[in-house]
Amino acid sequence: MQLIWLRSDLRVHDNTALSAAAVRGPCVAVYLLSPAQWLAHDDAPCKVDFWLRNLRDLSQTLARLNIPLLIREASHWDDAPRVLAGLCDELGVEAVHANDEYGVHETRRDAAVRQALETAGIAWHNYLDQLLFQPGSVLTRTGTYFQVFSQFRKVCYSRLHGSLPQLVAPPKTQAPTGIDSDSIPEQLDDFPTPSAHLRALWPAGEAEAQRRLNEFTDAQIDYYKDERDLPAKPGTSQLSTYLAAGILSPRQCLHAALQSNQGEFESGSVGVVTWINELLWREFYKHILVGYPRVSRHRAFRPETEALAWRHAPEDLAAWKEARTGLPIIDAAMRQLLETGWMHNRLRMVVAMFLTKNLLIDWREGERFFMRHLIDGDLAANNGGWQWSSSTGTDSAPYFRIFNPLSQSEKFDSEGLFIKHWLPELAGLNKKDIHNPANMGGLFGVADYPLPIVNLGQSRERALAAFKNLPTRMDAAGVHD
Ligand code: FAD
Repeated sequence: MQLIWLRSDLRVHDNTALSAAAVRGPCVAVYLLSPAQWLAHDDAPCKVDFWLRNLRDLSQTLARLNIPLLIREASHWDDAPRVLAGLCDELGVEAVHANDEYGVHETRRDAAVRQALETAGIAWHNYLDQLLFQPGSVLTRTGTYFQVFSQFRKVCYSRLHGSLPQLVAPPKTQAPTGIDSDSIPEQLDDFPTPSAHLRALWPAGEAEAQRRLNEFTDAQIDYYKDERDLPAKPGTSQLSTYLAAGILSPRQCLHAALQSNQGEFESGSVGVVTWINELLWREFYKHILVGYPRVSRHRAFRPETEALAWRHAPEDLAAWKEARTGLPIIDAAMRQLLETGWMHNRLRMVVAMFLTKNLLIDWREGERFFMRHLIDGDLAANNGGWQWSSSTGTDSAPYFRIFNPLSQSEKFDSEGLFIKHWLPELAGLNKKDIHNPANMGGLFGVADYPLPIVNLGQSRERALAAFKNLPTRMDAAGVHD
């Protein structure tokens, strides 16, 4: 008997470990519920709910292939070796198959599981699946991990030209095993069920993920470059939720994008090329996680920025979290996050810069809050995005390039449509006043809407001074983790 251990790869199609297990013989699938670990990782309740909903869908799809899906609890990952070794013993499993996950805790967990299994005479097989390239296989000439995206991307492109990662054939129906699938819990303690509205925005299942991918690559991808920065439009794929949980693979995304561009990478639709770049940003940050593990321990990629004099400003932080900063684009974006579990990429950058520069609050506060609310929360991308915005990360925004939220608002939501959608209390304002209502109402601003909690000009100067005062820059690559 073969055991496929499902984690962030909740799909049947193009699942490397599942197909490899099924080829070797009869197989059983298992998923571990790890609520204590998920809490420690700040996984959002809406994301955990999304996993459970997808598991229900996946269990039915697997059942049609006669592959039972078992559910076991390993509340903390320290319990995983014992729970899995016990299950293997119970079922007479010869080998366990799993797709690689990245991050310090994931790597440590898998090493401990592997050791426990091998001690018991059970084989362990792990596979590259979540990424297009094995971390450690895309390196600089001197053999280090890239720290600059454009250079990383160049190497990835030349590799993709040489050989495109192929889709894996789905498993065939096997003979019945006589083992029953377990039921999937409706909800777990500590992870309250999100609103019906939020759930309806993110239907579960591979079929839905594929439908969205096809719809995007058929109808929107050509406009992606022009519309990707406009939060009022559905200009991006909104597939991050499905990619993060592994309902969709990056190979499936790549193939669908290329198919819509007659197989071309760098010619043809500029939208396709731009979108593939974003898939490579996803790739880049996961490679960074492996190459520089300190970032998955909540430490700055640029160690000298650890000395930054962040402000302890709980009231400002609360206003940011609760969408009452008095800056419409920030508050509208935060409402989008709270109500949908997702935020547009341009606005993730804008609210992150506002928190870390204008409010001069530690990026780790924002990173944690995002993780606790995002349905697509992913350690590598979230950490990468936060460290980019706060100028503490690899290839990040230079510290003196501080977005002005008002100009960002005027540029990317020029008609104020996004703001009006999320802040109906401002719906009566014209497209000029809506970006900065404090300007129009004299001292009193607009009824029911707060005045800005911070002066943008002064707070910008404060941030510049704080960064200028940092000790001399150190070579991040020379620092040991
Ligand atoms: P599209 O524009 O359609 O892009 C396609 C896919 O490429 C995305 O689904 C995503 O998987 C990947 N991608 C796109 N941009 C990035 C990027 N900058 N970094 C890494 N991958 C990218 N993305 C997450 O998936 N999870 C997170 O927790 C997360 N946190 C972020 C926090 C901050 C502060 C910032 C600035 C960005 C963060 N991102 C995160 C990246 C990006 O904002 C989202 O991936 C994107 O908004 C998802 O929308 P989409 O699926 O429509 O993206």
